[in-house]
Amino acid sequence: MTERLYYHDAFLCEFDAQVLACAQAPGSPERWQILLDRTAFYPTSGGQPHDTGRLGNAHVLDVHETEEDTVVHVTDSALAPGPVHGVIDWPRRWDHMQQHTGQHLLSAVFADRFGMPTVSFHLGRSASSIDLATPVLLPHHLAEVELRANEIVTEDRRVDIRWARAEELVGRDVRRPVARAGLLRVIEIEGCDRQPCGGTHVARTGQIGSILLRRCEKVRSHWRVEFLCGQRAVAAARADFETLDETARRLSCAPTEVPTLLARALQERQALYRERQRLQEQLAEFEALSLLATRAEMRRDGARQLVQVFEHLEPGYLRLLVNKMIAEDKVRVLVGTRTGGHVIFAQSRGLSGDMNALLQHVLAVAGGRGGGSPQFAQGRVPEPARLEELLEAARRRME
Ligand SMILES: [Zn+2]
Repeated sequence: MTERLYYHDAFLCEFDAQVLACAQAPGSPERWQILLDRTAFYPTSGGQPHDTGRLGNAHVLDVHETEEDTVVHVTDSALAPGPVHGVIDWPRRWDHMQQHTGQHLLSAVFADRFGMPTVSFHLGRSASSIDLATPVLLPHHLAEVELRANEIVTEDRRVDIRWARAEELVGRDVRRPVARAGLLRVIEIEGCDRQPCGGTHVARTGQIGSILLRRCEKVRSHWRVEFLCGQRAVAAARADFETLDETARRLSCAPTEVPTLLARALQERQALYRERQRLQEQLAEFEALSLLATRAEMRRDGARQLVQVFEHLEPGYLRLLVNKMIAEDKVRVLVGTRTGGHVIFAQSRGLSGDMNALLQHVLAVAGGRGGGSPQFAQGRVPEPARLEELLEAARRRME
């Protein structure tokens, strides 16, 4: 069992200890597992990630705890048994303390204001989240909790570590049922919250800094709320503002006008899209008739046959054009577009010949993929420069 110095003083960032054991980590030749008699390093647990830092000259890369209540420090080099000096990566720890204490405060306010208990907590690399047991979570819930939590931050209330026996906590206003027995470490936010917890916390609510609630989403039967505290909240608010400001600049409006202008722009885009569709239909109809009149050759089976490579035709428009042509009586088209190497072999109903079989023959020679029916088949070839040659081969095969 390792003595945990952070239980009593979360602000301790340097300490002296004895190395009790050092062994190579199983399966990791470059990693070592160090056991100390006492440690200020926090091991991953309760939703809070581990600390990093140094033990002597070794870098501490991971810290975890065993079922025997021992803290294991994973380092990048070995340490000799005996005294060692430990240094915690303080900016990382401080950030974790802010997020973790912010979580206590938010959970307390969600429970107090709306009777929404917290069922789990995750402290992430960029954002943290709590899961609330509630069937409904609305924007006004978030706004009200955020406001109240930030008020408690500015009231700079004490955050104390207390020790109590489990039975003493029963019936007291702890947020969650007390599952563990024996002597428990309890974190108390003055006049607001009392909760058993083994994590690291700031000493006063003012040290949490700003609290910002952001996305929320339904996850199974719970609602997950993403939040940020301290510098993370400020950095996220700054990034959000820059995004909004850039959007407003592009729309040439004030940030508050962005939703209205964006809705209008999307509506206009939809209308333009529909108009474009209508014009393309019309254009394809004219172009189809013109191509058949000027470029198609008459075949022995009475079909008008068009063999053509287009330079810059979008595959979607090519399909439209082909469909307009084969809607006419006795038409066969063997066409391709250099854009993407798309090819379409198609013919009017009633004509004999298998367009899919023809396409498969060409693809077997040229490579590429595709398929379809005896009437309409389409595909892509890897070398659009060879389209003339491939269509000519198809034309010959139809003779
Ligand atoms: Zn805690």
